[in-house]
Amino acid sequence: MNKTLRQAIIAGNWKMNKNRAEAKELIEAMKPLVADANCGVVICVPFTNLETAMELTEGTNIKVGAENVHFEKSGAFTGEISADMLTEMGVEYVVIGHSERRQYFGETDHTVNLRTKAAVEAGLKPIVCVGEMLEDRENGITAELVAMQVKLALKDITKEQLKNIVIAYEPVWAIGTGKTATADQAAEVCGLIRETVASIYDKEAADAMTIQYGGSMNPKNAAELLGKEDIDGGLIGGASLKAPDFAAIVEAATKG
Ligand code: PEP
Repeated sequence: MNKTLRQAIIAGNWKMNKNRAEAKELIEAMKPLVADANCGVVICVPFTNLETAMELTEGTNIKVGAENVHFEKSGAFTGEISADMLTEMGVEYVVIGHSERRQYFGETDHTVNLRTKAAVEAGLKPIVCVGEMLEDRENGITAELVAMQVKLALKDITKEQLKNIVIAYEPVWAIGTGKTATADQAAEVCGLIRETVASIYDKEAADAMTIQYGGSMNPKNAAELLGKEDIDGGLIGGASLKAPDFAAIVEAATKG
């Protein structure tokens, strides 16, 4: 089974939630619950919680990620954080191109590509988000749109660099809405993403790539989604803010 060729990763995306004390409480609650996971466990936290998260997860199986990164190395970019600033702290992952950044902060496929390149060049592991709006799905262009997003995000990324990239398929209509894509819908698009990666690189690269599903994944629907051949984990928003829920999804990935 090709699933054995790649690592399942469950990554929490905390978004703009949790002050320092709350972050500490959540991480401490999570640590024992996910300690036996045989999948990757990542928490992507606000910049202000990175230091706390790095300290509290030291020596554990929980890896830390940021929620965005700028593509320039340094300079007059007020309010931005560079890839080198993140790696200097020991941060390993970074979410890039989340639909909330695309919707509210002018993120485009071009800037997703610039951020992805800057991240891998600095040694970060990007979790690159792609996914269609409800209107796109209703217009029957999900496949073309997601394939285009993947191709543009990976432009000029080498096969070697690809090994450190995760793609998260997140249908925008399923994020934070409680509406999950059915396991078959999610698996179909994750499969299509894998085919797209194979068409750019080759089958070996595509088979080795971790492709997550994200969009209202929770302890109830996780096992079915994660049991699908092409779904290698999840990017989890709301459910990552509650240790038992996040741990239950990690447990489902451990079994799936
Ligand atoms: C996300 O923010 O990436 C996400 C999938 O959110 P939620 O799980 O809340 O839908």
